Amino acid sequence: MTKARPNQGPKQEKSVFIRTYGCQMNVYDSERMAGLLKPLGYQAAASAEDADLVILNTCHIREKAAEKIYSELGRLNKIKARRAREGRDVKIAVAGCVAQAEGAEITARAPQVDMVIGPQAYHRLPELLARTARDHGEILETDFAVEEKFDRLAAREADGPTAFLTIQEGCDKFCTFCVVPYTRGVEVSRPVDAITAEARSLAVQGVKEITLLGQNVNAWASPPPAGEAGEIWGLGELCRHLAKIDGIERLRFTTSHPRDMDEGLIAALGDEEKLMPYLHLPVQAGSDKILKAMNRGHTAGRYIDLIARIRAVRPDIAISGDFIVGSPGETNEAFEATLALAEEINYASAYSFKYSRRPGTPGAVMLKQVPEAEKDQRLARLQAVLEAQRQAFNKMQIGKILPVLFEKTGRHAGQLIGRSPYLQSVHVTAPKSMLGSLAPVRIEGVTPNALAGVLTPEGTKEGEAAA
Ligand code: SAM
Ligand code: SF4
Repeated sequence: MTKARPNQGPKQEKSVFIRTYGCQMNVYDSERMAGLLKPLGYQAAASAEDADLVILNTCHIREKAAEKIYSELGRLNKIKARRAREGRDVKIAVAGCVAQAEGAEITARAPQVDMVIGPQAYHRLPELLARTARDHGEILETDFAVEEKFDRLAAREADGPTAFLTIQEGCDKFCTFCVVPYTRGVEVSRPVDAITAEARSLAVQGVKEITLLGQNVNAWASPPPAGEAGEIWGLGELCRHLAKIDGIERLRFTTSHPRDMDEGLIAALGDEEKLMPYLHLPVQAGSDKILKAMNRGHTAGRYIDLIARIRAVRPDIAISGDFIVGSPGETNEAFEATLALAEEINYASAYSFKYSRRPGTPGAVMLKQVPEAEKDQRLARLQAVLEAQRQAFNKMQIGKILPVLFEKTGRHAGQLIGRSPYLQSVHVTAPKSMLGSLAPVRIEGVTPNALAGVLTPEGTKEGEAAA
């Protein structure tokens, strides 16, 4: 969950507080919404209590995520009533995937909500705000028009040395457990020129690392720009193209689907130096029967082969994944296959979830739903395996010199926090003037969630062992 930056300037006429739930794509969307509102005089408020406009940018992926929104709306409604008694109007907007999936339910359950804006409609925020001011009625805007959205977004302001950049939206895969194809629509790729222009503008503002985002980011495909070779580019070609931008030192992408890992992208992971050695490649389950019921379009064996091919070209790559335990029909034997797959891959990090029955998805009406207690036990067993692997991967870095990009100050005086090429948090004592720069760090220890290191003048080569 992220918050908009507090307003540090003189008191402004209007302020907005954006609370972000869920994935990095929502973080990106929130940033863009804040950018759209700035020309209208909206500055970032420190909290919902201080804001004239509160936007909840929501996530619908699991039941818990969606239910959180309704309890937050209850709290906001009280703030709105209190501020009304003081003679001030507070507007509440619900954006993101809950807005898309449950628009009518939101307005019925929380009538104080002024605007419900789907993920493809937030570029219309300024006109929707004008309409609420004029009509004093609630507004529901949940049409799909991805290209129009990107065309109408204003140039963005960078916030630090790293940035997200959405290059692809939507999903045509229809995994039977997942709501995304219904909330984000079909797969759409942004054109190369638009992506390049956004990346260049970020680089000019001092951004050194860009993470390309998409629900299925490696399904991205688009014709090359004029004068470049090829008929259709995939993500590998796009990364090579963006790597040529002056100032961009690191590229990452997330989230990928095993079905869309093509040769071009695997080759780029092997030899494009600016592409970081980290790949988030969800597998969800290790049993072929469950993978088939999930409509994943790959088997466990194909996933294992794929990882072997990627490791052949980039042996140090950190592999990350997503797992779901307790899917409909998951027997003990099927769950053991998931544990075996996790053991075989040996993940650097991974996310694991209990299956959540999402209304409207094919999985919700499947027979043989797994009892909650069983899901809890399986999740605990899987997480124990994945956590041991994560700790082992972190410990492997001790003694290496890694290039670290310093992103923020730490909790302790004189401490900076940065990221290793493998996306680990690295804590270092360093001058504040190094914020935003890349420097070699000798890794000396690990804490439960980070690496600890010291600045070193020796070598800058990634993964190079200390003398
Ligand atoms: N597109 C990516 C893929 O398929 O590999 C994943 C994107 S999804 C937004 C993020 C993760 O949420 C999924 O990989 C899955 O593990 C989890 N997820 C999605 N639907 C779920 C559900 N109904 N219950 C539990 N976890 C779920
Ligand atoms: Fe959801 Fe599957 Fe699409 Fe990923 S690929 S977003 S899990 S439907």
